[in-house]
Amino acid sequence: DTATVSVGLGARAYDILIGPGLIVRAGAEIAARLPGTRAAVITDDNVASAHLPVLQESLGAVGIDSVTVQVRPGERSKSFETLQEAVDAILAARLERRDTIIALGGGVVGDLAGFVASIVRRGMNFVQVPTSLLAQVDSSVGGKTGINTAHGKNLVGAFHQPRLVLADTAALDTLPEREFRAGYAEVVKYGLINQPDFFAWLEQNWREVFSGGSARIEAIARSCRAKAETVERDERETGERALLNLGHTFGHALEAATGYDGARLVHGEGVAIGMALAHRFSARMNLASPDDAARVESHLRAVGLPTSPKDIAGDLPGADALLSYIAQDKKVSRGALTFILTRGIGQAFIAKDVPASEVHAFLKEFE
Ligand code: NAD
Ligand code: ZN
Repeated sequence: DTATVSVGLGARAYDILIGPGLIVRAGAEIAARLPGTRAAVITDDNVASAHLPVLQESLGAVGIDSVTVQVRPGERSKSFETLQEAVDAILAARLERRDTIIALGGGVVGDLAGFVASIVRRGMNFVQVPTSLLAQVDSSVGGKTGINTAHGKNLVGAFHQPRLVLADTAALDTLPEREFRAGYAEVVKYGLINQPDFFAWLEQNWREVFSGGSARIEAIARSCRAKAETVERDERETGERALLNLGHTFGHALEAATGYDGARLVHGEGVAIGMALAHRFSARMNLASPDDAARVESHLRAVGLPTSPKDIAGDLPGADALLSYIAQDKKVSRGALTFILTRGIGQAFIAKDVPASEVHAFLKEFE
């Protein structure tokens, strides 16, 4: 009951293993592939209390000595300060390049730990043990790592591919329900980009994905494969990797408009609203059928995700402000924006000259 997705990026191919119990087996899986006898585990307080002892024991059982760097949960840990603490701790423990940095946690820990691994001793072996659904289907695949700065999110970082990804699907049982649902929005995204059959499968099987078991493994594996295939064709996002941003332009604007207040809106919820809006906007532009937009909305609602800016608690700024957040996020040239739009379910495309005035008029509807 373990699925394997192989990611082939040049000479450095690596496996993503997906299934229950992988944290228990982590030591053996790592020892079978990597030479290091020492490791640094980077994790956050929430994940440490649920899963760190099992990982430490598993490493110890195969003779891998580990140090732990434990950071505070949340986006703020993707900072220069936390980066420095982690780097110092690893150097103080005298880890060498052949040793291993292990990320045990969600996307925050994965992005931070991956960046640490990319810079310490000019690049150490890196293993991802993603514990949130978002991290298992999205952030642990593709090699983007980094931290945030006062100028914006993810502006400092590196491409650094892991040597192995261990997605323990049982670890998701301790993830808060809201975080699971938010990660599920990214799963839906892969269906909407270019796999209409996967979207239809999710409409039928989402309850089983939420409750665990083989449908969960299948959904995660299909998502990883979808992301891996896109990244293999376009590692550095010069073209089609941008499709993975479906729902993210509107989503990021809403996250910014709520001041990144996770109590009001978490990333995946912003993406859910963004995907619903991208489909509605595509229908409005006569690119896609309104029936497809309705179908997307109805699936997202069925699982309990929001689909409209009006679903966000509290006051939101109006269309003017939302558009200026969008313009900050995207390059605007002569009043035109680049958006991921769609011709229907599973037919997303990069639209390079979307008139800002149309977007503005569309957003007005939600004031
Ligand atoms: P996160 O890492 O903050 O995790 C969400 C919350 O769940 C945290 O409080 C965490 O402590 C907790 N948690 C995680 N796993 C748990 C578990 N098994 N049991 C109990 N609690 C658990 O957030 P996230 O949604 O996983 O990731 C978001 C981050 O990922 C953002 O910083 C985003 O920029 C990044 N990201 C990166 C990429 C990429 O390609 N590198 C892609 C998408 C997102
Ligand atoms: Zn996302």
